[in-house]
Amino acid sequence: MTAFVIPAPAQPAVPVAGGGRFPVRRIFCVGRNYADHAREMGGDPDREPPFFFTKPADAIVTSGAATPYPTETAELHFEIELVVAIGTAGRDIAVGDALAHVYGYAVGIDLTRRDLQAAAKKGGRPWDMAKGFDASAPIGFIQPASVIGHPAKGGITLSVDGVIKQSSDLAKMIWSVPETIACLSRLVALEPGDLIFTGTPDGVGPTVRGEALHGSVEGVGEILTRIV
Ligand code: MN
Repeated sequence: MTAFVIPAPAQPAVPVAGGGRFPVRRIFCVGRNYADHAREMGGDPDREPPFFFTKPADAIVTSGAATPYPTETAELHFEIELVVAIGTAGRDIAVGDALAHVYGYAVGIDLTRRDLQAAAKKGGRPWDMAKGFDASAPIGFIQPASVIGHPAKGGITLSVDGVIKQSSDLAKMIWSVPETIACLSRLVALEPGDLIFTGTPDGVGPTVRGEALHGSVEGVGEILTRIV
């Protein structure tokens, strides 16, 4: 095998509770997966099938580390989300088989340049620069499903400087984790290392430099980062 002509990029990874690191291959995100958030964004939660967008694998920020305020935006929004970590490959996965492909779960924040996203929507352009920018995916430790099981209900919250901004329940997801995995696996072949951000409940809003974001999902864990 011939040598790389430039240094190979570092492997992005998320710490696992109890030890070890989960290597990140790709990051998929579900759009509008809680009815109240779909409504606050002007959508119709009753008619829209799940849709997906992506972030680069190296967009992750480990819990406890600072998140730099991104360039080219005046409206950075937080979105608290349950994150699924895929441990077993599969395509055309049946809903009933989907959870067997999950290594574990984490709490993540889908940071969004909301102003750029609004402009992209208006112009019919891609969301990439609104969603997939550097450090756009803060994420907490991954909890193995072998330890915590597969959470289908439980509180999901995000607070800014101690003030609760988002508070909902995983049970309010429009598309469950197994349904999301099944749907995504018909679009792409899922591989170990893939992460799926499963959508945010209502209450999204802006954050500015200096603020501390603290997210938690009952039975899964938390994420803590400061915007700098
Ligand atoms: Mn989101």
